[in-house]
Amino acid sequence: MFKILQKTVSTGTVTVNYPAETAKISERFRGRPRFDFEKWKDARPAAEVCPTGAISLSDSDDSRKVTVDYGLCVFCGLCAEASSDQAVRITQEFELATPDRRSLILTAEYSLNADRTHHGLRKVDRQLVNAETDVESLGKKARETIQKILGRSLAIREVDAGSCNGCELEIVALNNPVHDIERFGIQFVASPRHADMLLVTGPVTRNMELALSKTYQAMADPKVVVAVGACGISGGIFGETYASLGRVDKVLPVDVYIPGCPPRPQALLHGILLAIGRLAERLHDDRKG
Ligand code: SF4
Repeated sequence: MFKILQKTVSTGTVTVNYPAETAKISERFRGRPRFDFEKWKDARPAAEVCPTGAISLSDSDDSRKVTVDYGLCVFCGLCAEASSDQAVRITQEFELATPDRRSLILTAEYSLNADRTHHGLRKVDRQLVNAETDVESLGKKARETIQKILGRSLAIREVDAGSCNGCELEIVALNNPVHDIERFGIQFVASPRHADMLLVTGPVTRNMELALSKTYQAMADPKVVVAVGACGISGGIFGETYASLGRVDKVLPVDVYIPGCPPRPQALLHGILLAIGRLAERLHDDRKG
């Protein structure tokens, strides 16, 4: 007992202060790839190695449309390795959660040379990936907002609709002393009847479709749904098959999408804080209506 107390005192506080402070992340962490469309001379090598089809090409006689979908991206870094022109680089950016699925998609159009390399950039559609960049104020407001709108803690029910459990490992980490999600007045609950937020991981397997729908129906209004990871957003590496329906929004209305494979705990926290804002809006609308 004495040894445990001694260890506790010598360890001190381990809880990180994210989002009030910038997240300290490992140098080896891979976040989203960034694309320098002006510099990109050939998108084919990157599209060929991309394991999820996050980079797709549509060629006509003299032009090419390149589409990059962060909702499909698993942040593997293969596109950066395959692009010899250094136009693709892996960053450590992870705060990508958004309520708008379309904002995760970038497109660029090129005119082509005879050898099918890019001649010139005709058009680029770079939507803002971050719906909310001021994560610090999101964090500061979270406790206050939860108290104001609910008068109690925010309750989350998590459903694994068919994931590999990578996302679950990160969700479990949210509850450990390092990330300690309860400091925001947020807790995970066992029953959907007590939940305000539904966190869904994995592509929705056909066997889980009914269970997922019933869980959603069992939750009281107002409620919000968060799709976690590339699988939840788009079906990810599994896609749509005889056993998998793919993305969560085929089954439920999704309020916030959190990209990543799996999203790191801070990315999850960022998405959850964003979803609290959606819940507040919904409650406000309900009261007005
Ligand atoms: S980092 Fe994303 S876009 Fe690049 S190859 Fe991997 S999955 Fe595809």
